[in-house]
Amino acid sequence: MKKKIIISKPFIEEEKSDIFKNSVKLCAHITMENPNTQKLEKKKCYFEFNREYKKYLCDTRSDAFVMGILSSAMELGYDIEFKAPISEKLYYQLTTYYIPMVSKHNPTYPMHSIKLIGDLDNTKIENSKAVATGYSGGVDSFYTIIKHGKICDIATNKLTHIVFNSNCTSDNNEERIKKTYLKKLEEVEAMAKEANLKTIACYNNLYEFYKFPFRAFNMFYSTTNGSIAYALQKLIKIYYISSGGPISEFSLDLDRINGHDSQVFDVFTLSCMNTENLSFYSSGMECRRIDKIEYIIKEPLVQKYLSVCPYSSFQDINKNSVLNCSICEKCLRTLTELYVCGGGKILQSLAKLLM
Ligand SMILES: [Zn+2]
Repeated sequence: MKKKIIISKPFIEEEKSDIFKNSVKLCAHITMENPNTQKLEKKKCYFEFNREYKKYLCDTRSDAFVMGILSSAMELGYDIEFKAPISEKLYYQLTTYYIPMVSKHNPTYPMHSIKLIGDLDNTKIENSKAVATGYSGGVDSFYTIIKHGKICDIATNKLTHIVFNSNCTSDNNEERIKKTYLKKLEEVEAMAKEANLKTIACYNNLYEFYKFPFRAFNMFYSTTNGSIAYALQKLIKIYYISSGGPISEFSLDLDRINGHDSQVFDVFTLSCMNTENLSFYSSGMECRRIDKIEYIIKEPLVQKYLSVCPYSSFQDINKNSVLNCSICEKCLRTLTELYVCGGGKILQSLAKLLM
């Protein structure tokens, strides 16, 4: 018999936390065979926020938890059973298009075809029409912020919130993950304040339900990143996920586009993630990375906060660290692109260790 992940009805908890002073968690108990120990376990999965977001947490749907664990289930070949309903439109899109197509076209990774088992709900959820995007500090992220920030003349699409989550970690040490997260959060909050946007900080423990070293977690991450928007379905109406590449690189088969992850088919993934309440967009797929750099380099916000380096957050948290190391592959790539685009001021700040 095929193995199964069982997600309990979601519930809300207020408890002391070492992440936020006043914390609230959207939780569900997840029962599954732990892929790292092969033991059957029942563990609490949670999305943790500042308590001001309590009224926006959606505990009547399983959407956040199903999407948070979907890539793990597909990697392991486990079906998912949920005790609270999932949004009907989301169920239709996942079971008709996303799961069969991604599993068929990624045999190497591999991603398996799985079943989703549980009730559906197509009723509307009242929400506050917030427009949000995730934040990494990189070029793609800033392109979304500048494009949909103060210059956006369509009120419905204008950015109101920045989401900073703890996803996409390659670490499995809770203490280190929390330290790294809180260190970066300070920088995100300062940037958001200057951009006149509110910060939604979300710490979650989704990584605990993935097979180490988190290949599926970090290769097929748009569903996990989007899961935070489902947790806040009473707040968020539109969610932009920044695209890492142009539409010309689209392929469902990651083997064909060596060096890329699932962001190359985000336009497909995100179209399957929409619900009756929530719309996702792949922001930036309309242009190349070099076009994005040209678009953002004159912005003082970008010149101050652009952070492309994957290693800067691992520096000693007690020392005054820099946003970019200026010697790793990502930093050097961006330095070259800035040189080509004539981004003098930002080039100097990025390259200060080299000079
Ligand atoms: Zn670097």
